[in-house]
Amino acid sequence: MDYTRFKYGRVFVCGRCRQAIFNEEGVVSESSGLLNIRKLLPGSAQVRGEGVLCKNCGGLLGSVKRENGDKTYIIDRGGIISVLPEIFGKYFKDAIFACGCFWGVEYQFKKVVGIVYTRVGYCGGTKHNPSYEEVKSGTTGHKEAVHVLYDPRVTNYERLVRVFFEIHDFTQKDGQGPDIGSQYLSYIFYLNDEQRQIAEKYIGLLKSKGYDVATRLERAGRFWIAEDYHQDYYGKTGNLPYCHVRRRIFD
Ligand SMILES: [Zn+2]
Repeated sequence: MDYTRFKYGRVFVCGRCRQAIFNEEGVVSESSGLLNIRKLLPGSAQVRGEGVLCKNCGGLLGSVKRENGDKTYIIDRGGIISVLPEIFGKYFKDAIFACGCFWGVEYQFKKVVGIVYTRVGYCGGTKHNPSYEEVKSGTTGHKEAVHVLYDPRVTNYERLVRVFFEIHDFTQKDGQGPDIGSQYLSYIFYLNDEQRQIAEKYIGLLKSKGYDVATRLERAGRFWIAEDYHQDYYGKTGNLPYCHVRRRIFD
């Protein structure tokens, strides 16, 4: 997998245990010794007093500065390792899900503990390098999809499949919520047999609970990254999604 084409930046991992702590999008400024960070990855670290500690191994990563209710994390380069997209495969794993308007799907996945990066795009169709307008026309076969990169030290594919089913109506057959059309259908695009087996297990589990599951499984073809203005849409606009709310359906 060539992660550079998803336009991912660096990820910074704990120097002791290699757990992901923050990514390029959280960096405000950096010098040779320190990085100023606005946002840590969900569930990656804990703040104790003035100290910022790795949630996994407890290693000290830096300190926190509070100003007018805002927090800045001052991270010491000595305690972290920066990972370039070229070698993400050594550290992280990925998954592709489609279940309606990708703005809302990405919004929900961004909040999940263990998620390192997300990108919205198109998957499952035949058209190379499709535009949003082309996908919207319903003629490309593509679904609005989200590529997620996750830290296997923190989460796993099974947990992400649970999140997927909990953030949408997987019994809807003509779209998702008010968004009707083939590009909004519920799909799990698996990347290997292990993912396919886990997805099948959960579809079977939901059917045994009486749900009429509309979700389809398909081996992932190429994921085409969407236009920049669709990336982190709700994060950029500060609005909340109309289409995706998480509800618990698994114990
Ligand atoms: Zn650690």
